[in-house]
Amino acid sequence: MKKYRCWAEIDMGALERNLGRIRAALPPHMQYVAVVKADAYGHGMPRMVTRLMQSGASMFAVANVYEAAELREIGRGWPILVLGPVLPEEEDHLAEYELTATVSTAEEVSRLSAAGERARTRLPVHMVIDTGMGRLGVWHEQVVELYRQIMDSPHLRLAGIFTHFASADTDPDFTGLQSRRFLQALKSLPDLDTRPLLIHAHNSAGLETLSPDSPFNAVRVGLLQFGCLPSPNSILASLKPEPVLGFHTRIGIIKHLPAGTGISYGQTFHLQRDSRLGVITAGYGDGLPTTASNRAQVIIQGKRCPVLGRVTMDQTIVDLTDNPEAAPGDKVTLIGRQGDESIDVQEFSNWADCVPWEAFCSITKRVPRLYR
Ligand code: PLP
Repeated sequence: MKKYRCWAEIDMGALERNLGRIRAALPPHMQYVAVVKADAYGHGMPRMVTRLMQSGASMFAVANVYEAAELREIGRGWPILVLGPVLPEEEDHLAEYELTATVSTAEEVSRLSAAGERARTRLPVHMVIDTGMGRLGVWHEQVVELYRQIMDSPHLRLAGIFTHFASADTDPDFTGLQSRRFLQALKSLPDLDTRPLLIHAHNSAGLETLSPDSPFNAVRVGLLQFGCLPSPNSILASLKPEPVLGFHTRIGIIKHLPAGTGISYGQTFHLQRDSRLGVITAGYGDGLPTTASNRAQVIIQGKRCPVLGRVTMDQTIVDLTDNPEAAPGDKVTLIGRQGDESIDVQEFSNWADCVPWEAFCSITKRVPRLYR
């Protein structure tokens, strides 16, 4: 088998089992919208989507029309929701790739309506309601007018309505308030129950508060399907999600330096003792950010070894003084398991001072994804 310097291992079986467990925990009437934007959170969209299609996803959500066009190649006939705003020059791609757009403003309604007219079709749209995220969506107290505008357009078809939780991983009270605002806004819309609409709110963290008799009929899940909990103490741990992605590199060289030597750019670390050091073949050019300098650990020969000094673009220095077995060429695990030791993406993102979503997305293009 070809050897790699730095690679991500993607466990397709884990993805399938995660989806199966999440689906089994959902009320039966819930459709599963798989969120696969940003190259399926860095896992590689085409392979992830293919497996999610076989394992029970009902729809896919991406960030923009270009991601959607790539997905359309694989998912002919599958519903694709474009979560982000559609820019003026992108509007005609909606009909071309049979996409569902989201709308938050009257300006979008009139532009997309014109695009529907040009394509001689009714473009499907989901209306977004801002219940407290402060990003996309019409403010929850002003929904009726936008709803009427969509309904009045002969070139748009309202296919769904949704909101997005701002703090479902940290603030259940605020999430409750957002849910109540959403329900209230839905109640104010005339003739809503006569229409076949997808109504959705819950992301991964939102699933913690999803009740079996939820009035909604879809969820939008990203992080959890990739085996990462939205917060370390999440009750979703009972679903036993399995990490899908491992991130690994190798030891390039090993050298010995005396106590007192400064390490890497800026000399932010000085050796406390005569040390055995490994230079590993990954840096911020691969997805190990400089914020992890002097903080992160890696696993080599089943033992944790600290990162010393600043992470550089292509190489990083680790302390092997207490790991005499380690040798050039050895596998170095940045995220994943070796023997009894493991580093999950939560721990990695703490060192990197980012959120787990971001840690996944930061693994760069030059890192090959190997699927098994
Ligand atoms: N819905 C929207 C609008 C999102 O932006 C995202 C992710 O950022 C999701 C759902 C999925 O969230 P999560 O990955 O936390 O499940």
